[in-house]
Amino acid sequence: MQHQISEKLKGLRASKNRDDVISLLQQGASPMAVEDIYESIKKLNNKISLSTVYRIIEKLVNLNIVHKVTTLDDNRALYEIVKDSHTHHHYMICVKCKKMIPIDDCPVKELEKSIEDKTGFCITGHKFELYGECKNCAQKHS
Ligand SMILES: [Zn+2]
Ligand SMILES: [Zn+2]
Repeated sequence: MQHQISEKLKGLRASKNRDDVISLLQQGASPMAVEDIYESIKKLNNKISLSTVYRIIEKLVNLNIVHKVTTLDDNRALYEIVKDSHTHHHYMICVKCKKMIPIDDCPVKELEKSIEDKTGFCITGHKFELYGECKNCAQKHS
């Protein structure tokens, strides 16, 4: 487990379920819905319940280990591990299959700087998402 995360968990009771959720989210390339997390963990540990996963996620959000990712469709909450702010990801989101593909670079960084210079506004964060159709979905109807 990342040092950063173990720091945040310091003083809390050890929980195998919680560790399973964290390691699953760390492996995943894209954010996951609670139901998907539950389905994957159930395969390893069939004693876990959906409400337990909800509770764990809520706890991890409060600890700032996991954060909710906004998506086009507000009914579907997706979660991912909070990453170092210097290596944060933006996503291309397929409106057909809802796949989220990370973009390596932050395209907003430069823009932020020039807006700060012009307006004196101190920018502390941003959201940037691209919507469209992924390669697979775009091919289906061409
Ligand atoms: Zn797609
Ligand atoms: Zn960014």
